[in-house]
Amino acid sequence: MSNASVHTTPMVKVDSVTRTYGSGTNKLIAVNDVSFTVERGKLVALVGRSGSGKTTLLNCIGGLDRPSRGAITVDDIVVTKLSERKRTALRRDSVAFVFQTFGLVPMLSAAENVGLPMRLRNTKTSVRDKRVAELLDLVGLTKHMHQRPAELSGGQQQRVAIARALANQPKLLIADEPTGQLDADTGAAIMALLRTVIADQGMTALVSTHDQSLMDIADHTVHLADGHLVDGALAVPTGSLATGSEHQGRIV
Ligand code: ADP
Ligand code: MG
Repeated sequence: MSNASVHTTPMVKVDSVTRTYGSGTNKLIAVNDVSFTVERGKLVALVGRSGSGKTTLLNCIGGLDRPSRGAITVDDIVVTKLSERKRTALRRDSVAFVFQTFGLVPMLSAAENVGLPMRLRNTKTSVRDKRVAELLDLVGLTKHMHQRPAELSGGQQQRVAIARALANQPKLLIADEPTGQLDADTGAAIMALLRTVIADQGMTALVSTHDQSLMDIADHTVHLADGHLVDGALAVPTGSLATGSEHQGRIV
């Protein structure tokens, strides 16, 4: 019955992806010949120091950006071949982003923020209201539904952003350092919430972090250093991220 049983292909396939910025002496290789896959239903952590290429790679996977070379497949769609318009549709229908800075609309209440993606898809009001209520319940914010972002704590704002990301039932959730602006306890709670909602909604998630608590709850870890994949790094031991030269080899 479950779709998972008929899908044997990975949710995400990153194949020899390179993203460079600039040209000539200013050329910078942000992501350098990276290949990996994310299996359906898994939570994969993308780990690496600041500047290692995490955001660039996530933006390419989610169709916000395009690699300079290589191919990316999301749910059997070659996103790197899609037109701008089709990539926008992909982000509306199949892929959802959660950002470090939450990205909520300040003038809208928590409930209105969660309902926004459904409004953009012209979902019927009754269906929308029901889904918003479900999602707010899922992230534990029912009591705060009328508050605006400025009236919520950082952790609560990130819960709203997660609920909003789930609104259109995406297949893939991409979260770029979702706990980066939160204290350790709140960050751990957000990670636990992500783990729960991914299982609850039957989604796949790719989450960048340098937060050890996330690496612990992820099914797999993909480790980037200076735009390269670190070989065989399925589990990154504590402290190993602090070694190595951050800038070496990136500017060519
Ligand atoms: P991370 O998310 O791991 O901190 P980023 O993907 O943001 O890493 O950045 C990787 C490298 O690419 C960095 O050296 C950064 O300065 C560079 N970079 C990112 N975005 C741009 C851009 N739009 N133009 C030029 N360089 C960029
Ligand atoms: Mg980043």
